[in-house]
Amino acid sequence: MSKPKVVILGAGYGGLVTAIRLQKQMKASEMDVTLVNKHDYHYITTHLHMPAAGTDHHENARVAIADLIDERKIHFVKSTVSQILPEEKKVVLGDRDLSYDYLVIGLGSETETFGIPGMTEYAMSIKSINSVRFIRQHIEYMFAKSKMEPKRKEYLTFVVGGAGFTGTEFVGELADRIPVLSRTYDVDPSTVQIINIEASPSALPPGLPEDLVEYGMEVMRRKGVQYKLSTPIKECTPDGVILGNGEFIRAGTVVWSGGIRGNSLLQQAGFDVQRGRVKVDECLRSYQYPDVFITGDCSIVMSPEGTPYPANAQIAVQQGYNVARNLLCAVRGRDLKPFAYDFKGTVASLGKGEAVGLLKVKKVKGKFAALLKKVIDARYLYLIGGIPLIWKKMIFKQKTTA
Ligand code: FAD
Ligand code: NAD
Repeated sequence: MSKPKVVILGAGYGGLVTAIRLQKQMKASEMDVTLVNKHDYHYITTHLHMPAAGTDHHENARVAIADLIDERKIHFVKSTVSQILPEEKKVVLGDRDLSYDYLVIGLGSETETFGIPGMTEYAMSIKSINSVRFIRQHIEYMFAKSKMEPKRKEYLTFVVGGAGFTGTEFVGELADRIPVLSRTYDVDPSTVQIINIEASPSALPPGLPEDLVEYGMEVMRRKGVQYKLSTPIKECTPDGVILGNGEFIRAGTVVWSGGIRGNSLLQQAGFDVQRGRVKVDECLRSYQYPDVFITGDCSIVMSPEGTPYPANAQIAVQQGYNVARNLLCAVRGRDLKPFAYDFKGTVASLGKGEAVGLLKVKKVKGKFAALLKKVIDARYLYLIGGIPLIWKKMIFKQKTTA
């Protein structure tokens, strides 16, 4: 009898952890596992705000998949998924089709622009290694350009749309980078503006207690960040942004961090989606296709209170554990185990040595919170690549240039 075929789409947090757990726990005779990813590396999305601002080298945020999986157990295919055909139990890649008995979808998210005119065309967003290299280069280019045309003040105006987790973490790093760039390009730092524009009345991620939000905003303001709250961006143009109140901010750089939606391949495949994400059952399967498990930003998991958990790496990793275990249960003919999210806390970085967050329900801030963030980062590296990966990516890491 042929082995059940498991295909995992996406080597992000959910997909990679599923593959790593399977390779540890399955017997080679039990299933035939294929991992598909569009790059031959995994990127540590939770670090991307740093290389985007240029405070860390992008190499520290990517890891070769060959260093993480045992290709004698997991077959890796570097390819872009172009279609999922759940009725036919098949996925279409650039150069071939793959059939499956069980499918795991971990294709991550796309940028949500809410149809704001010009956002897709003129704003940049923090999504991948390639996108953050582009943002970093663009920022430096603006500094260089400002020296050639000193009257064009907008070259040194940096607009960040959205002050949730991503916007906040990026703005913190950017503010840290400005003094370095100002020295390198011989620019007066007082001529540089960072404007974080947020539609809701408060900056920083929702769910943080008010005193932590106050603390976080104070840290940012001290670094020179200007906030515009209760102010939605209505349009993005090649020269800046138009706000809900009609004001135009001329800016050479617009980074959009206004939200995410699930990978569009799910909707195209006929899954019932809400903002591109699929509501899954208690074992993380599609209600429509029980042989399809969905993890990470592509999935919606409801809390016992009936609200969706936020899409983040923490839940994606825990889902990876659960899906691997349930795949083993499925091929061994055992009952599947429901997924239970264990919320360990959340920390938002505010740049070097500063962060705010919750450790379970305990409030943390300042240097301690920043240290906690490093511990969380190190824990993930340990999970996927052991101590050698912590050494490579956090201790003897690649230096960034000024
Ligand atoms: P991803 O990790 O995004 O992986 C998706 C994978 O699918 C990628 O490898 C991609 O290349 C691949 N892929 C996509 N499309 C295709 C295709 N068509 N074909 C083949 N492969 C494809 N969360 C936290 O919990 N803590 C944090 O501190 C944190 N910090 C963050 C900082 C930033 C700047 C950002 C942007 C996000 C942060 N998040 C954080 C959120 C977290 O990164 C995501 O929730 C998490 O990455 C989701 O994991 P995933 O497995 O769903 O998808
Ligand atoms: P988000 O949806 O959490 O935040 C987007 C922000 O943009 C919101 O505050 C929203 O009010 C604002 N916004 C929306 N439309 C706007 C407009 N027209 N003008 C101005 N502001 C507008 O998105 P995110 O910050 O990218 O986070 C995505 C997911 O990734 C979240 O689930 C988050 O939990 C997770 N994440 C976690 C961390 C962390 O744990 N440290 C870091 C980054 C991201």
